[in-house]
Amino acid sequence: MSTPPLASDPAALRPLLDTVVDALGEGTRLRGGPLPAGGPEPVATRLRAAVGDVLPAEGDPQALRHLVRALAEGSADPADPLCAAHLHCPPLAVAAAADLAASVVNPSMDSWDQAPAASDLEELVTRVLANEVYGETPRGAGNCATSHDAPAALVTTGGTESNQLALLLARESLGPALHLICGANAHHSLPRSAWLLGLPDPVIIPAPAGTLDPAALDAALTELPGPHLVAATAGTTDAGLIDPLPEIAAVCETHGARLHIDAAYGGGLLFSDRHRPKLTGLSAAGTVTLDLHKLGWQPVAAGLLAVKTPQDLDALQHRADYLNADDDTEAGLPDLLGRSLRTSRRPDVLKIAITLKTLGRTGLGALVDQVCDRASEFADLLDAHPRFELHDRPTISTVLFRPSHATDDDIATTRRHLLTTGRAVLGRARMDGRLWLKATLLNPHTRPDDLAALLKLVEGTTPR
Ligand SMILES: *Cc1c(COP(=O)(O)O)cnc(C)c1O
Repeated sequence: MSTPPLASDPAALRPLLDTVVDALGEGTRLRGGPLPAGGPEPVATRLRAAVGDVLPAEGDPQALRHLVRALAEGSADPADPLCAAHLHCPPLAVAAAADLAASVVNPSMDSWDQAPAASDLEELVTRVLANEVYGETPRGAGNCATSHDAPAALVTTGGTESNQLALLLARESLGPALHLICGANAHHSLPRSAWLLGLPDPVIIPAPAGTLDPAALDAALTELPGPHLVAATAGTTDAGLIDPLPEIAAVCETHGARLHIDAAYGGGLLFSDRHRPKLTGLSAAGTVTLDLHKLGWQPVAAGLLAVKTPQDLDALQHRADYLNADDDTEAGLPDLLGRSLRTSRRPDVLKIAITLKTLGRTGLGALVDQVCDRASEFADLLDAHPRFELHDRPTISTVLFRPSHATDDDIATTRRHLLTTGRAVLGRARMDGRLWLKATLLNPHTRPDDLAALLKLVEGTTPR
């Protein structure tokens, strides 16, 4: 075999892209639904047959076609309207194409000499998004914010890393006795981050209504010695609920507690004029988690952590002579190591930047409005249906429901049966002591008919 061509060779890349696009289409057709049918065993059997020898003695030039086809055939497809379990969005075509450019150019964000333009783009875009969270820049003037007091944002691999960094920054400014206080509705990555960072055991406040109760928070803050980091959620993973942010912010202020808001899901509402007011209070937080691979239609990974006081980021300053030697920094080369705990790092900001600019605020806001409308219509369908119970009107785009008279076991079995037959992918959530089916609607192409079909399918699958 001759030396394989590089990604920088357009004559080599172009036909490979056609191969990929064709194989994706073939795999999707072969699957014929939101999930491969048959459960784990047949999926593994088909995949193993397609892969064959993982590391053959001699290479196989058809590997791209065969493995991409097998991957697509054996995938859960978030672009299928009946795939609605998780905060797992169908990525936009333009974002996936942008990600290809990132792979070809391959800037690495750990030093300026590996990423001259990409690092500047990251600086520009993160500042604008931080201002979007903290609302300090008039619309349209985002590029002018260069003050050292302006809020900043870090690019992360997602909500989990953003929450970890938020806890780390809080610990670095408040000390190792820091107590994390969050609701039982908070994301599991928050208590896990406290464990990772060796912090005292977090205090988890029961949240029977699905949101953090400010009175219970006030009591916990009164009882527990500080320093405290309170973590609130804007868009819970289970139900898409938003904690009462202004009230929580007020309680934190009274007690001198630092506030983090996990808006991994709800942060996308910032782009919608209609839904943005639901995030009132967000700017009171010292740090805010955003995740554009949820309500932002990016391929994974596209996380951000917005930081109100940029001096907090000093804690991440770090030197490695080969990447940011003092004399290089003094001579004016930007120092990038302090923007992440990672070293080599993909320019995930590229797809974000291209999406923001291609769609604009109006285009992105319309996508947000669309999925929220679909959720609301789905709730209407459930409300009017004699055989279903709706948990509550959706706050964002998550709808919890259950067939009337079904037991929790019936519901778990129904969900698994739909998975195994490959006909629908629904999630599950425990609320009010009962198990519910969960539809997380993130596909802006889903039509009302699809939702009616989904209900019919669930109705036909539930044991009577
Ligand atoms: C999804 C989610 C996370 C974790 O984000 P990842 O991108 O999966 O790491 C954190 N918090 C909330 C509220 C989430 O919904």
